[in-house]
Amino acid sequence: MGSDPQEPFSSKLRVPEALTFDDVLLRPAESRVEPDEADTSTRVSANVSLTVPVLSAAMDTVTESEMAIAMARQGGLGVLHRSMDAEAMVREIERVKRADELFIRREDVVTVGPEQTVGTVDETMERAGVSGAPVVDEDDRVLGIISGTDIRPYLGIGEGDPVREAMTDEVITARGDVSAREALELMYDHKIERAPIVDEDDRLTGLVTMQGILQRRAYDDAARDADGSLRAGVAVGPFETDRARAADEAGADVLFIDCAHAHNLNVIDSAREIRATVDADVVVGNVGTREAAEDVVDFADGLKVGIGPGSICTTRVVTGTGMPQITAIAEVADVAARHDVPVIADGGIRYSGDAIKAIAAGADAVMLGSYFAGTDEAPGRVITMNGKRYKQYRGMGSVGAMRSGGGERYLRDEENGENEGEAFVPEGVEAATPYKGSLESELHQLVGGMKAGMGYVGAGELPEFKTRSELVRVSSAGQQEGHPHDVVITDEAPNYSPNE
Ligand code: 5GP
Repeated sequence: MGSDPQEPFSSKLRVPEALTFDDVLLRPAESRVEPDEADTSTRVSANVSLTVPVLSAAMDTVTESEMAIAMARQGGLGVLHRSMDAEAMVREIERVKRADELFIRREDVVTVGPEQTVGTVDETMERAGVSGAPVVDEDDRVLGIISGTDIRPYLGIGEGDPVREAMTDEVITARGDVSAREALELMYDHKIERAPIVDEDDRLTGLVTMQGILQRRAYDDAARDADGSLRAGVAVGPFETDRARAADEAGADVLFIDCAHAHNLNVIDSAREIRATVDADVVVGNVGTREAAEDVVDFADGLKVGIGPGSICTTRVVTGTGMPQITAIAEVADVAARHDVPVIADGGIRYSGDAIKAIAAGADAVMLGSYFAGTDEAPGRVITMNGKRYKQYRGMGSVGAMRSGGGERYLRDEENGENEGEAFVPEGVEAATPYKGSLESELHQLVGGMKAGMGYVGAGELPEFKTRSELVRVSSAGQQEGHPHDVVITDEAPNYSPNE
């Protein structure tokens, strides 16, 4: 060993070396594709397609129902985190599923009784994420409708008063065969925001809302299921079969087996069992090698790639393990492509250029955490430090997230969960990320940059882009050349901030 320069120095050292986003660039190619015309439609799992190849991470500072709703409306997919109990998870899935419904079905309509107090009803509505509810008697006959809290003080109504006194009893109702247009006209004429749908005996059969109708019209590219409801993804633990079943029954479209190292054979056994139990698609992750891909590709509806690339992640420094993300994607995608299974590149994406490089390496979609954590739709409030606005962003394997119940993904021994902070061996940090405004504008920049990349390569559709694109290796001088250099940036660009 050692005389041939092509040979590795030692059998322990793997060649070729592993690469990540900054190591490569897309090679420009002949093109007639205008970025605006590029089509980013893709598949994230066997049965779920999206118009925008982007997912928001299953993290407690990124994706709850508000983010998932916004993502699906824009054509992507939000993956609800799992740092909540199973009942809360079901409620969150239902929020997403019912967000844009034209007609809300009876079983999903939040109703209240006339003798309940205004205070309890407000709590019920708040929990369910609705701003008004029909008031029904024991036979489900509509007596009135109760809505917004804003005018009650003027009417002298307090929290302890019965709903009967606070409700509007002249209810405008519609019949089940009403069209969207008729319902809109009815609500417009009567200046109301929701109308109960009733049968000939005045019994409640559903609810139609102005917001529901207008929202559906506004989002042409939204990710919807066969019934027209928004798509919802949800993370479940590898050994949580009951939870997976509950998510499936609540209508989740894609379950993400949420594990830092899915090449753990016990995890694979359990993921296989979950796959056999549910109707929803099951994406298995995270993996980062071709061997891991080989071991799950026969049953998984999608593979998620990423061992340690995340912005808040310390797995590589704490455990000494990881795979630079471009190489990880390429290895997994080689296997997945042969079985026609979609690949999601998860973590490490800072710029739109990284996202489209991930697709060039073989991914079908990308998942991002830090990119979205600063938006309005992410959980948590805006904080101000030194005059700048931020939102909290933390790894699910950070001490804080593990303390509040989200850390199973990184605990080697589940029993450790009972111990206090110092017993954890965290694989993530708690941080703050600049406040960014609406998800819509962030996503617009991200997808706009990706489409421009498609234009440079001359591919009008993602599958074509995947085959046509070539990645070139860049030196560190080449990498520096790619960022603004030798200037002082005077105005912030909406899609670029320098790496500190
Ligand atoms: P980002 O887009 O911020 O670079 O990465 C987000 C991804 O990092 C998540 O989707 C998830 O896969 C991963 N992640 C989230 N929390 C942690 C953590 O505490 N440790 C590690 N190793 N990865 C994390």
